[in-house]
Order: sequence, then C-alpha cells, then structure tokens
Amino acid sequence: MEAIIPDGWYETSGGPLQQLRDEVLAAPHHATRDFRVLVGGVLWRVAAGRYQLVLGEDSPLREVIFKEAHDSVAAGHTGREKTLERVLRRFWWKNASEDVAEWMTSCPTCQAFSTETAARIYFDVVWRQHGGAYANRVVEDMLRSFVGTNPEDWDLYMTNVQFAINDSRSDVTGFTPFER
Ligand SMILES: [Zn+2]
Repeated sequence: MEAIIPDGWYETSGGPLQQLRDEVLAAPHHATRDFRVLVGGVLWRVAAGRYQLVLGEDSPLREVIFKEAHDSVAAGHTGREKTLERVLRRFWWKNASEDVAEWMTSCPTCQAFSTETAARIYFDVVWRQHGGAYANRVVEDMLRSFVGTNPEDWDLYMTNVQFAINDSRSDVTGFTPFER
C-alpha cells in the first residue's frame, strides 16, 4: 500500500466517497456485495476476486495512475481498452472509463502518432492503390475526420475508409473504383 499511495493522497472525507464508506462500515463485517473497508479505513471495491482501491472522482492520484497505465514506457501508449483494463486492475472510481478517454485525447504523444498514422494510411490506401490523380480532398478530409474522432481506434475505420474510397466517383475518370 505504501508504494502505491503517497501520504495524504487518499482522501475520503466529505462527498460521495465518505458516504459510501460510511455505508460499508455500517454493514456486517464492513463489507457489502461490491465494497469493503479494510485496515486503515481504506475503501476497496471487490470485482472478480480483485481488490480495486476506490478513489474520489477528483483524486490527484488519477494523474499518477494515468501516467503509469498509459504514458510510461512499459505501458507504451496503448489504446483505450487496454489502458482502462490496466487502471482497473488496481483502482476504481466512478467515470474511470470517461476519464481514460479524456486523458488519451489530450495525450500529445498519441495525437502526434495519429497524425503520423493518418499520413501513412493516406499514402497506402489512396496513393498506392488509386494513384495520385485520385487523391482528392474529399478522401483526405474523410480520413482526417475518421482518425481525428477516435485516434486510438484508427484501424477500426480502415474498412469504412476503403469502402468510401471505392464508392467515390473519380473526378478524372468519372467512375468509381468499383466500376473500373
Ligand atoms: Zn498516449
């Protein structure tokens, strides 16, 4: 515990977390179906046999956790699901999923990578397959918007992008790639 939580960083006084802890403390054996209060008055959530430290929604610990679970060399800026899974191995708070998404949206490394990835997709799909004449602004904007909305999930949009390209009429030939 000492290694994970710096002194004074775990605060449950006041707010919904205090309320929850009081409820759990009032229950037999200081445990409800999902939560337990253990040594030191620390509140834990128990899910699938795993103990997750319960944090307040504005706990400063969240930033430390994000840095470890997403930004660190070991974590390697993995996508939303993997980052969330890593966070939930040891911690839990309300809106953790939304907070992970927000953290990744504001991560400069992920943003730079996406930009880079978009350029590569553009080259591979549009240029190599359809030739430079086909590389029109519509497709370029589409790629950007797909990647921009959800940078970490860019690969999921590849099929959409490919289909949209195949179904777009070329300004030069007047045909879609489907018709060629
Ligand atoms: Zn990142």
